[in-house]
Amino acid sequence: MALTIRLARNVQSFDRFTRLLCMRTMSSKSFLIDQPRYAFLKDLGLESHNKGVYNGKWFANGEMTQSISPATGEVIAEVAQGSVEDYNTCVVEARKAWSTWADIPAPKRGEIVRQIGVALREKLEPLGKLVSMEMGKILPEGVGEVQEYVDICDYAVGLSRMFEGKVIPSERPNHTLLEMWNPLGTIGIISAFNFPVAVYGWNNALSMICGNTMVWKGAPSTPLCSIATTKIVAQVLEKNNLPGAICSLVCGGADVGSAMANDPRLPLLSFTGSTRVGKQVAVAVQSRFGRNLLELGGNNAILVDESASVDLVVRAALFACAGTAGQRCTTTRRLILHEKVYESVLAGLIKAYEQLLPKMGDPLEAGVLLGPLHNKVAVDSFSATVKEAVALGGQVAFGGQVMTDRPGFFVQPTIITGLKPNASVVMNECFAPILYVLKCNDMDEAIAINNSVDQGLSSSMFTQNLGQIFKWLGPKGSDCGIVNINIPTSGAEIGGAFGGEKHTGGGRESGSDSWKQYMRRSTCTINYGQDLPLAQGIKFE
Ligand code: NAD
Repeated sequence: MALTIRLARNVQSFDRFTRLLCMRTMSSKSFLIDQPRYAFLKDLGLESHNKGVYNGKWFANGEMTQSISPATGEVIAEVAQGSVEDYNTCVVEARKAWSTWADIPAPKRGEIVRQIGVALREKLEPLGKLVSMEMGKILPEGVGEVQEYVDICDYAVGLSRMFEGKVIPSERPNHTLLEMWNPLGTIGIISAFNFPVAVYGWNNALSMICGNTMVWKGAPSTPLCSIATTKIVAQVLEKNNLPGAICSLVCGGADVGSAMANDPRLPLLSFTGSTRVGKQVAVAVQSRFGRNLLELGGNNAILVDESASVDLVVRAALFACAGTAGQRCTTTRRLILHEKVYESVLAGLIKAYEQLLPKMGDPLEAGVLLGPLHNKVAVDSFSATVKEAVALGGQVAFGGQVMTDRPGFFVQPTIITGLKPNASVVMNECFAPILYVLKCNDMDEAIAINNSVDQGLSSSMFTQNLGQIFKWLGPKGSDCGIVNINIPTSGAEIGGAFGGEKHTGGGRESGSDSWKQYMRRSTCTINYGQDLPLAQGIKFE
């Protein structure tokens, strides 16, 4: 105190003192990134303070935010977000870059995507670790998520030589009908926290070979994943003397997201997130006649027939219900059991959950199978949902508690029985490991329960009965986008089109013909003769 007063008498010394004080305060702010254990973060080009906007150069004029480790609640590093003005700058640059990118033949664009796949392979482990650390999923799943991006790059490279239009027979002599596919221009991608790398990868790899440039906004709570991924992609673009703005990034929140939804310069907005936000985005995009690609919430069910293998069901359900701490859009939230196998499956699952509990811990550690929820909001939502389920007459058959014996955002995987299929909690998605176990008399009733919710993402039936299988796959079967037999609801492969019906939004990403969502189709009629016959035999003479 005495020292402070003496220094204050001398303005010059006072300035020096305050500078020193500031420096000490800054250096005392220590982040996880500074600890040797997390040195892999620096291998990804991340620092204590990061700029969250890229359009060929890195900058940011928005709010400074902190990325928090869900396992400990500590700060990993800081990120300056982009402002709406920064976003505008990115769209301008991405549109300029389109002019170059669209002129490059598709197989040559595929070559750039191939190089991105190679660059991702080189960073598979550190980037997978970052996914695990920042999102909270266990390390094999973090690495698996990056692998998914690598896989879709490989897929897109092949596709860049194969996606095709059609030649259609014309009814008029000396005429040919062609179907041409062209890029859309600059598209927007908004993604959710739970797949902070793979969802961008699906969109990015396909959209690139299709000839679009893009502006990406990841979730505000996983900015380091967005920055590290963009650094890998940017390095490939820069090495090939291409504009970095082909793959622009704006770290930001709802303000930037809303600007994207309302921006007529983005002909397509690919949105992955909750049904609540997706609905606002969809209305905004539709009102300007833009195109939506919506990947929204799920309320996925496993149906178990009396002929099913109980052992297979229990193993599948354990991963699908409790894995990723219930934070996959395809997590199983409803287990609909035939009355003849109800007791045996439930008993087996409770036993499996008991064995899982000791394997809860830091998702980066080997042997851990159960990580934390992503943040405090998710923990509160878990507690409120369990409370509501009990108030509605549900019984907690396993779990139900928040783990207060450790830092971070851990909860017990939870099984609730005794609720009606139409109870409010059962009808809604709570993004946490809560499973509702329901009883049915036969598979017709189970299918009706499966289809009774608003969402329509993933669904699985366990049965050995051929008749049930084809009923499940047919017009009176599951109304979801993903319809499985004898495998869980989660863990989709990239080769198929991924997405769901109803309030899940109707979008399809990744494999099959999902690439069509990133292009516009023109039907072209060419007359190579000298006459002018009209279609349908119409005479106008
Ligand atoms: P969320 O809806 O809270 O956020 C998703 C994204 O939307 C974030 O980037 C967020 O910043 C942005 N956003 C928020 N307000 C916005 C606004 N007004 N306009 C535009 N953008 C806005 O979702 P979340 O909590 O990050 O993710 C979990 C949800 O995502 C779950 O419902 C899950 O089922 C769903 N999800 C679906 C899929 C799928 O493929 N169907 C995949 C992953 C996650």
